[in-house]
Amino acid sequence: LPAGRPVPDLVTAIPGPLSSAAVERDLAVTSRSLPRAYPLAPRRGHGSVIEDVDGNLFLDFNAGIAVNSTGHCHPRVTAAVQEQAGELLHYSASDFFLPIYAEMCNALAATAPISGPVRVFLSNSGAEAVEGALKLARYATKRPYVISFYGAFHGRTMGAVTLTASKSKYHKGFGPLLPGVLRAPFGDDSTFEHLENTLFRYEVSPDEVAAIFVEPIQGEGGYLVPPAGWMARLRELCDKHGILLIADEVQSGAGRTGKMWAIEHTGVQPDILITAKGLASGLPLGAFMARAELMESWPAGAHGSTYGGSPVACAAGLATLEVIKSERLMENATEIGQLLIEGLTKIQAEHPEMIVDVRGVGLMIGVEFATAADAAAVQQRAFERGLLVLECGESAIRLSPPLVVTAEEAEIALSLFAEAVAG
Ligand code: PMP
Repeated sequence: LPAGRPVPDLVTAIPGPLSSAAVERDLAVTSRSLPRAYPLAPRRGHGSVIEDVDGNLFLDFNAGIAVNSTGHCHPRVTAAVQEQAGELLHYSASDFFLPIYAEMCNALAATAPISGPVRVFLSNSGAEAVEGALKLARYATKRPYVISFYGAFHGRTMGAVTLTASKSKYHKGFGPLLPGVLRAPFGDDSTFEHLENTLFRYEVSPDEVAAIFVEPIQGEGGYLVPPAGWMARLRELCDKHGILLIADEVQSGAGRTGKMWAIEHTGVQPDILITAKGLASGLPLGAFMARAELMESWPAGAHGSTYGGSPVACAAGLATLEVIKSERLMENATEIGQLLIEGLTKIQAEHPEMIVDVRGVGLMIGVEFATAADAAAVQQRAFERGLLVLECGESAIRLSPPLVVTAEEAEIALSLFAEAVAG
């Protein structure tokens, strides 16, 4: 992208065509299971801006679905990847002592919202990290059952998709799913009512439950923030029954909410924390970290991965953590997040019939519409005006821009969003 060109120029009227040739080529060959929000065919990106194959420029408030945390092609991340790619592309950290793998684990452990020693396992994706955490929880506790929440999203592999409970299309036709997964309502008193008075009374004894998986802010389920005190009650319930609390921070982690981990806003410590997405700015890297005694309970060979924590992904991850710190991206997430929530609340006041809620923490912001059709129409009109946003939940749109997003870009996004809402 042209260096030094002012951002307002970048978000121009779409000269279009909107990538129709690229879209046709893609649809002819890719899996029909890919959902596809709108016909965006990205070619390159810089900071918060994406250019498509036709030269159209978009303000990217998806960040590749909360992945490009340091913005597209942050020079320090790109340089770290290029340098590592010239040194060593791959060596399996499952079987050998890859220094950059240990360095990445160390850097992550230093951020863990867990007191006492922590150990880290690196994977290639969020779902893989969820699978690993699930195996560890069963292994370490010797208990068979796990619990997740309605509205949860934990990935698409068989174990992770069983924990996922947000849309019927994730499960139907794929059964039998993983046995031993139970569900509870998310984010209010009914959680505890259901767990104590229904699940633990009629279905399982709590001492058969290994873990509860929770997204501190539900992501795919609609960017839902549980009320103050809810997570602390969940921690208490886990402590009472010896159940592990597993925070899935694949979407909410790596600085997005203004703290490194969203669970830090609640003062609660998980036993295991899972992350991916924003961790390496776009390179495939996931992780789960756990209290050391849990990770020390399983023997060599119990769990591994050929590619997990590949040198190039670790280089991107280390550079990402450095940039988040040195460029004060968590502070930026808090500031710009407030600006966006204020602006969106004003748009809501002008369209109360359409927008029913604005919520979020830092740069994890959800706008709830009266109907799913409203959300879909606004998503499409925003795209046509040069703003990339994505639906979530039943009838919400999420804003998850790169953490480098500027106040100027946020103002442009707000005006484009207002236009998209107005129709
Ligand atoms: N957990 C959460 C909270 C997620 O949001 C996602 C992805 N949307 C996943 C797990 C799965 O991650 P991946 O797509 O990298 O497997």
